[in-house]
Amino acid sequence: MSSAQLEQHHLDLQQLQQVFEPPAAIQTRAHVPSIEAYRDMYRLSVSDPNKFWRQIASEFYWHSKPDGAEEAPILDYNFDLSKGGIYVRWFKGWRTNICYNALDRHVLAGRGDRVAFYWEGNDPEDRTSITYAELLQQVCRFANVLKSNGVKKGDRVAIYMPMVLELVVAMLACARIGAVHSIVFGGFSAGSLADRIINAKCHILITCDGNWRGTKLLSLKSIADKAMSICIEEGNPVVTCLVVSHVKRPRFGSDEADGDSHSSKPGIRPAKDCPVEMLAGRDVWWHEAMAKEDISDDCQPEWLDAEDPLFMLYTSGSTGKPKGVLHTVGGYMVYSATTFKFSFDYHLEDIYWCTADIGWITGHSYVVYGPMANCATSVMFEGLPTWPDAGRCWDVVDKYKVTTFYTAPTAIRTLMKSSDAFVERSSRASLRIIASVGEPINPEAWLWYHRVVGRSQCSVVDTFWQTETGGHVITPLPGATPTKPGSACFPFFGVQPVLLNPETGDVIEGPGEGYLVFAGPWPGIMRTVFGDHPRYEQTYFSKFNGYYTTGDGAQRDKDGYLWVTGRIDDMINVSGHLLSTAQIESALVEHPKVAEAAVVGRHHDVKGESAYAFVTLKDGATFDDSLVRQLLVIVRERIGAFAAPDTIQEAPALPKTRSGKIMRRILREIAAKSENYGDVSTLADPGVIETLVALRTRQV
Ligand code: ATP
Ligand code: MG
Repeated sequence: MSSAQLEQHHLDLQQLQQVFEPPAAIQTRAHVPSIEAYRDMYRLSVSDPNKFWRQIASEFYWHSKPDGAEEAPILDYNFDLSKGGIYVRWFKGWRTNICYNALDRHVLAGRGDRVAFYWEGNDPEDRTSITYAELLQQVCRFANVLKSNGVKKGDRVAIYMPMVLELVVAMLACARIGAVHSIVFGGFSAGSLADRIINAKCHILITCDGNWRGTKLLSLKSIADKAMSICIEEGNPVVTCLVVSHVKRPRFGSDEADGDSHSSKPGIRPAKDCPVEMLAGRDVWWHEAMAKEDISDDCQPEWLDAEDPLFMLYTSGSTGKPKGVLHTVGGYMVYSATTFKFSFDYHLEDIYWCTADIGWITGHSYVVYGPMANCATSVMFEGLPTWPDAGRCWDVVDKYKVTTFYTAPTAIRTLMKSSDAFVERSSRASLRIIASVGEPINPEAWLWYHRVVGRSQCSVVDTFWQTETGGHVITPLPGATPTKPGSACFPFFGVQPVLLNPETGDVIEGPGEGYLVFAGPWPGIMRTVFGDHPRYEQTYFSKFNGYYTTGDGAQRDKDGYLWVTGRIDDMINVSGHLLSTAQIESALVEHPKVAEAAVVGRHHDVKGESAYAFVTLKDGATFDDSLVRQLLVIVRERIGAFAAPDTIQEAPALPKTRSGKIMRRILREIAAKSENYGDVSTLADPGVIETLVALRTRQV
C-alpha cells in the first residue's frame, strides 16, 4: 500500500465506528422526522397492530368490507405448529384490487397526467415515458386480451420478459382480473423457465422477441420456444404465447411514438435483426392482439378478497431449489406501499429509480407495486450499469434528476472497481436518498456509496428483506435513523425481530449474535409455497416453533442496531469461534486493491473449520505474496488471528446467481475439492467454476 492509501485506509477504519446523523435537509420534510417519532410509531405498530394497520389501510380504496369489519380484528394467524397448521390472514373479507389502487385511484384523483415511468433503454438514445392515464388504458386493453384468451381469476400466467413497459402492463392486467402472475427473470435458461411454468401449472406465457444487454442481443422468444417444447414433453403445454415486439417495433408512450424501428435512430445500438418464429394457433403478437377491434379500453376490476392470491415468485435459489413464494392482494398492497413511502421517505416531487429487474422481488415491490400505489414517478431501465461505461447510472441520475436511487451491493462493488472519475463526471445534485438491497453491504462499499456517489449529503438506506417478506423488514428511515455503515439498523413498523442462540434456541436479549427470526406476522409476509404448504411450514416455521425463520444470522450491538450477517449456513466455526463469513469478507475488502471477497468454511482436522477466501482484485491490481500478507494482517487486526484464512485464492470472478448474489455453496465445493456443485441452473456464468478450479493450484 502506498502511504496515501494507508492514510485513506486509516481514515476508513475510523469512519467504520462513526454514526451518520440524518441530513438536515431530509429531516425537515420527512414523514418520520426523528428517531423518537420512529420509536413512538413502532411501539404502536407492535402493541396494537389492529389500530396501526387499520389507520394505514384507510388510505387505500376498499370496494367492500364484511358486516362488523370496523370492530373485528384485521389480523388472524397461527405461528405455532403444535396448535395446527400455519396461516396468516390480514383484512380477510375486505375486497379490493391492487391494480385499481395503483392506477384508477390516481387517475380519478386528477393525477392521470403524472408520468408513471421514464423508460430508459439499453441504448442511451432510446427513451420514452408513460403517464398513469396512458398506463390505465393499456392495462385495461391488455386485461381484455387476457380474458379473450380464456384467462380467469386464479389462473397462473407465466411472464418471461425484459425491462420493458409491457411487462408492467402485463402484471397489472393480471392483477386487474385476479389472475396470478408468475414472472421468471429474463436471464433464465429454457430449462429453468420450463421448470417454473410446469411447477406453477401455467398454460399462458407472455414473452418478447428479444432484448439488448449492452452489446449482446438475447433472443428471448427462441429460449421461450425451447421451454415450451419441454413443457409439451412434460404434459403441461402452453396454449397461448403472447409476444411483444420490442427489438423492432412501434412503441407506445408519450415522447417518441414514431413508428420507426429503433435501428434508424442515431443511437449506438448496432442494427441487428432478432428473428422470431411464430407458431400458428399458439403464438400471437402483442400489438396485433391489442389492435383488434373487439378489444375495448374498459375493463372493470375484479373485486378480490384481500387474501386472494396476487402473484407467485420463485426465490433466487442461492441456497437450493427455488421456492414458489405466494403473496396475496391486501396485505402485500398495504405493506409494499407503506414501506416504499417510509423507507424512501417518498414525496410526490421525487424522481425514483430502482435498478432491480422486475423478475426479482425487488422489482415487484419497488419498481411496480410500492411506487405505483404512491403515484410515484420512476425511471425504469432496460440496460446494464456498466454499459456503455461504468458511468451510466450517474448519467441517468442527472438525465432524469433522480432523487432516490435503489440498487444492490453487487452493483455498488462493481462500480467501485472502476475509477471514481466515472461517478464524478456527473453532478448527482438531485440525489437525496441512496439505498441498497440483496446482500449485506460491507462497510467499505457503504462508505464509498455515501462519500463518492452521495457526496456525503445523502441518507444511505440499507434495506434487509426477502422474497418471502414482501417488503423491507429491517431498514433505517432516511429522516429519522442515525445510521452505521453496514447495519440495516432497526425493524420496520409491525416487524418484531428476535435473535435466537444457534445451539439452544434461547432468546438473546441485548448485544449478541444468532439466528434472525420474527415473532408474529406483518401484512406483507408470504402466505404459502405455491402447491406445497408443508414445505412452507417446514422451511420457515419448524426450526423454532412460534417464529418465522429467515435463515439469516444477525448481530445486535450495544445500541440495538441489527447487522444482518448473511445466511446462517454461511457461519463458520473456527476452533470454537463462531464467525460470520461476511465479517472476514468486510475485512478483506478494506484493502484498497480488493474489489470483492467471498469466504467459505473448509473442514480442518484441528480447528474444525478454517476460512478459505476468494478475492477479486480491482482493475490493474496484481495478486502476489505481499498482497496475501497484507490481507492476513487486516483480518488479524480487524477480527483476530483465529479468523485469518488458511487459504486466499485469486478469483477473477465469483459464482453469482442471475440476481448478482454470491453462491457460497459452490465456493464451499471448490474449497473442499469436491465436484458436487448441485443445482447450478440459477448460476449466471457456469464458466466461473472452471476458472476458479484452475486457479486453486496457483495459490500463493
Ligand atoms: P434462496 O432463498 O432461493 O436461497 P435468496 O435468499 O438469495 O434465494 P432473495 O429472497 O432474493 O433470495 O434474497 C433474500 C436474502 O438476501 C436474505 O435472506 C439475505 O440473505 C439477503 N439480503 C437481502 N438484503 C439484505 C441486506 N440488506 N443485508 C443483508 N442481507 C440481505
Ligand atoms: Mg432465501
